[in-house]
Amino acid sequence: MSDHGAAARSALAHGAIGVAGSPARSTPVALSVKAHHANADDGRPPAHMPTTGALVDQYGRVHSDLRISITDRCNLRCIYCMEEDMTFQPREQLLSFEELERIARIAHELGVTAIRLTGGEPLVRRGVVDLIARLSAIGFADIAMTTNATRLAPLAAPLKAAGLTRVNISCDSLRADRFAAIRRRGDLATVLDAMEAAEAAGLAPLKVNVVLLRGINDDEILDFARFARATGRIVRFIEFMPLDAPGEWNRGRIVPGREVYDVLNASWPLEAVDEPGRVAPAERYRFADGIGEIGLISTVTEPFCGTCNRLRLTPDGSIRNCLFGDDEHALRDLVRSGCDDTEVELVLRRAVWAKYPGHAINEPGFLRPHRSMSMIGG
Ligand code: SAM
Ligand code: SF4
Repeated sequence: MSDHGAAARSALAHGAIGVAGSPARSTPVALSVKAHHANADDGRPPAHMPTTGALVDQYGRVHSDLRISITDRCNLRCIYCMEEDMTFQPREQLLSFEELERIARIAHELGVTAIRLTGGEPLVRRGVVDLIARLSAIGFADIAMTTNATRLAPLAAPLKAAGLTRVNISCDSLRADRFAAIRRRGDLATVLDAMEAAEAAGLAPLKVNVVLLRGINDDEILDFARFARATGRIVRFIEFMPLDAPGEWNRGRIVPGREVYDVLNASWPLEAVDEPGRVAPAERYRFADGIGEIGLISTVTEPFCGTCNRLRLTPDGSIRNCLFGDDEHALRDLVRSGCDDTEVELVLRRAVWAKYPGHAINEPGFLRPHRSMSMIGG
């Protein structure tokens, strides 16, 4: 297994550098980008920032989706995400459930309707069922989770009962040896069993996240399409993003969403799923024969920043307005200092207001964020 892992890692590190295609997509991205640098903060609320109403940024994007990373720890070590040796945050630096609940409640009062728990691996944090129950009591329309599913099967029913609405399960290969090589721990059979357990518990629709890596699993596009068609699960093909802890990302390793589309469409014609006002990152397609659906998340080659409505809460309590910038708006120490809710609200508003129009991955001066995916929350 470790030989597979070493081979996959080495292949990842030595990918040829080339510019991935950037074909047109249906979602308009009319915004230019700026290089990402931390915003200067002189302590005053920015001029023109609304202090009432929804969480809106300077470009009119209303933010209603909060991704909460409840831990930076994980029981796997996916090659595109983590290194074998990771340094995790001391537990006392993580937000407590009470602190998380409070921030989520204030966000809800400001118009956040959807929550997603992520990590690291959210199911390695003890008491996660209790946390879902607390969040559920706040009244969100949607409480989802992204998980590697290695611990999901016995928790699926309790999580559903506590108020979890649906799960996205990460699974990058349908071949056991390759799954092991990419994820370095865990096994495919457990994850496939967990998918069944999730469906049996009513956590639906079930989405399956596949990070495609050139030369490693890009020959499984049609296998995953067959899987989607056979099971009714929505397989989402995700482009490799410059957020891997080893820092081995390069453009030669990206499998562009448009290429995935072409491969699939040649075998089973695809039809776009019409979604007026779409804000989800995935471009959705159904197979024209009516059997199955897939999604393309082309973050790098076809950015969807123009419709981004997401903000993120890191495990150690900072708000980030973009995966790819280093701007962070710290909340934990403020919350621990005994502040009132309006101070938390102001931090949330400032974080959203400071958001740049788009990520700068395709700009010459792009610098990777200092924190990798598992430390931010995907
Ligand atoms: N541990 C959980 C899991 O793997 O589903 C949740 C956290 S994980 C960081 C969230 C999602 O980010 C997963 O679907 C994972 O495959 C994806 N991901 C991690 N690193 C990535 C990268 N460098 N590029 C693209 N997707 C990545
Ligand atoms: Fe863990 Fe998820 Fe990162 Fe894989 S992608 S190492 S499962 S946090």
